[in-house]
Amino acid sequence: FDQRDGFIWYNGALVPWREAKLHVLSHGLHYASCVFEGERAYGGTVFKSREHSERFHTSARILDFEIPYSVEEIDAAKHETVKANGLSNCYVRPVAWRGSEMMAVAAQNSTINVAIAVWDWPSMFDVETKMKGIKLDIAEYRRPDPLTAPSMAKAAGLYMICTISKHRAERRGFADALMYDWLGRVAECTGANVFFVQDGALHTPIADCFLDGITRRTVIDLAKRRGVEVIERRIMPEELASFSECFICGTGAEVTPVSEVGVYRFTPGELSRALIEDYSREVEKQPSPAA
Ligand code: PMP
Repeated sequence: FDQRDGFIWYNGALVPWREAKLHVLSHGLHYASCVFEGERAYGGTVFKSREHSERFHTSARILDFEIPYSVEEIDAAKHETVKANGLSNCYVRPVAWRGSEMMAVAAQNSTINVAIAVWDWPSMFDVETKMKGIKLDIAEYRRPDPLTAPSMAKAAGLYMICTISKHRAERRGFADALMYDWLGRVAECTGANVFFVQDGALHTPIADCFLDGITRRTVIDLAKRRGVEVIERRIMPEELASFSECFICGTGAEVTPVSEVGVYRFTPGELSRALIEDYSREVEKQPSPAA
């Protein structure tokens, strides 16, 4: 991924893609003092850019550091990077980490580095392909107790259980894995939130020990606008048998129906289809980027 043409925004300036490097003794690498965002631009405009920049700041504060650029500066830098790379439908990856000045658990005086990379990433599936649904495994790892880990931050360190779980799921022939929380309740996937349909209403787990996705909040809004009841509640795995539809959502997944979770089967239906369409209209109706 490092041998490409293009530009990466690095601590305030655009640098050639291949030159955006860091030292092996970076604190972020050894101690996971690192937070990031995952966003998408549609037609040149980053969807919900401000919300993502705000979450970026919040994640850093939870990890006890400050992003040295304001929310507005990060927003502007993202758009500058999208434009510099000549892209319009792409993924946007801001990342911030403690640098290499101090190599110990304590690193109060290290520099906070910030980079923003963007790459081509069109929405991959059309509605009909999406409606076939993906298959989810059940992860062995659980989302940690919020008193055990900074669960609400989009922190690099929390992704080690996601990578292990996603690899295991793929080896076993699944697209992704559903993760339970520390008490065994349904939580989310390795990089997306999860929703279920029961009697025309949407049910989704309360986001208090996993990432409250910006797509999750968008889907809740879109459903409410349709007059669909949305119930955020504790969901136990045994209840999966009582749901008719299931879908996951996130910046990358957008809205993706699920046909299987472990032994449970779902038939992607009308509400999933409606929300795929609503979401795609929502991302397309953003204002064009300022010239
Ligand atoms: N949960 C996890 C673990 C994620 O990595 C993501 C993707 N960032 C999400 C949920 C969905 O978040 P969003 O809708 O903000 O992309």
